[in-house]
Amino acid sequence: CGVFGVIGVADAANFVALGLHALQHRGQEAGGIVSHHPVDGFNSARRFGYVRDNFTSQSLMQTLPGPLAIGHVRYSTAGSKGAAIRDVQPFFGEFAMGGAAIAHNGNITNADALRRELIERGSIFQSSSDSECIIHLMARSLQRNIPERMEDALRRVEGAFSVVAMTRTKLIGVRDPMGVRPLVLGKIGDGWCLSSETCALDIIGAELVREIEPGEMVVITDDDGVQSHFPFRKQPSKFCIFEHVYFSRPDSIIGGRSVYETRRQIGVELARETPVEADLVCPVPDSGTPAAIGFAHESGIPFGMGIIRNQYMGRTFIEPTEQIRNMGVRLKLNVNRALIRGKRVILVDDSVVRGTTSRKIKEMILDAGAAEVHFRIASPPTAWPCFYGVDTPQREKLLAATMTEEEMCEHLSVDSLKFISLDGLYRAVGEAAGREKSCPQYCDACFSGEYPVTPRDMIAKGFQL
Ligand code: 5GP
Ligand code: SF4
Ligand code: MG
Repeated sequence: CGVFGVIGVADAANFVALGLHALQHRGQEAGGIVSHHPVDGFNSARRFGYVRDNFTSQSLMQTLPGPLAIGHVRYSTAGSKGAAIRDVQPFFGEFAMGGAAIAHNGNITNADALRRELIERGSIFQSSSDSECIIHLMARSLQRNIPERMEDALRRVEGAFSVVAMTRTKLIGVRDPMGVRPLVLGKIGDGWCLSSETCALDIIGAELVREIEPGEMVVITDDDGVQSHFPFRKQPSKFCIFEHVYFSRPDSIIGGRSVYETRRQIGVELARETPVEADLVCPVPDSGTPAAIGFAHESGIPFGMGIIRNQYMGRTFIEPTEQIRNMGVRLKLNVNRALIRGKRVILVDDSVVRGTTSRKIKEMILDAGAAEVHFRIASPPTAWPCFYGVDTPQREKLLAATMTEEEMCEHLSVDSLKFISLDGLYRAVGEAAGREKSCPQYCDACFSGEYPVTPRDMIAKGFQL
């Protein structure tokens, strides 16, 4: 998901809508905005579909007045799949000291246990979302003010969370102690903003101030600016390495590095590790493009757009049902026949999950008369599901969970299939010495099976580590 918040500008909701539009790649199912106005109080709007189809209408935006607003774009991972407007964030609650709204990116790994306990003690849940626990824990806290109640609540929560929240006068941002999901602080005029990624600061002309640190909470007000503290026990940081590979936008900056440059570097490493003789390096657009550019550069094999992407389709992976996803590949991608015919083609993609995309693309490329098809993948085999906010299917559906590399190659019937190594990936993201085995610098659980936070709910449901 994507989260965005602004304080200290006129009509903050308009800025939030623009920010969410720039974060649309992080969630396309639904979006929501809550604003606060000193006279009109809190207002909210939650809608299915793209930001641009909902939060551009003047009549809707006029219902969201005020200098303080937060928003969320949703991509369902925890809770129910598919559509229920009650699961669309931000969530809003009224407490003794006034209301608060929260927007959460990540996934709470002990949400089932917390929900059961809260329901037993009388909480009434409105949604099936794991994030709603935070609001109920806040309502039950005995602390005197909302930021302290939020700290209280988040100390009980396990898993990944980057949260943007607001009260009547405060904009609040928090990252979990491992900093699994991103969150950055920006400055716009006299105001401030919080965003999942820097690309959303660019769209509103805000300046990047810095990243919110793992375990940090910032409370921002008009009068006092940004107040920072660290309410959690310190833990080693475990930023999601897959943000670098796929999830973030290439024009975002993470840890001072351009995501585009990192992906290009992944392609360079991939070419070094898995060379093959061929005539053309083709990206599977758009997610494979920067890595393909790096691969072509390093190998000296010409780069070409052998697959053309229809710009009017979203990210296929994020469509919730298998059937739509299956169709999606053809709706979204088509072969540039004239370029492909007779050539030995290297196809570069960011990841293989179910193998649906790769299989369809291979068929299309062979139909178009390619002489050979070699897949090169910019991440190691995805053999484990993510429980921290990226929607990977159950383990059984992951190609790499049941097959070796050779078996996958045979299954896809391609001439070769190779993945970057985990160490190669770490080098590409800037860890010159590779992955530290005893304490990896990133979360890489979907590749390694080493989960930095025990997925408690999933284990209770029978998931085996
Ligand atoms: P597959 O067709 O193998 O199931 O999915 C692989 C494709 O899904 C890749 O092209 C990749 O760009 C895309 N993708 C989108 N979202 C995700 C995600 O959350 N995880 C992974 N691993 N791949 C994703
Ligand atoms: Fe990211 Fe994979 Fe870890 Fe999930 S399991 S947080 S996708 S690295
Ligand atoms: Mg892709």
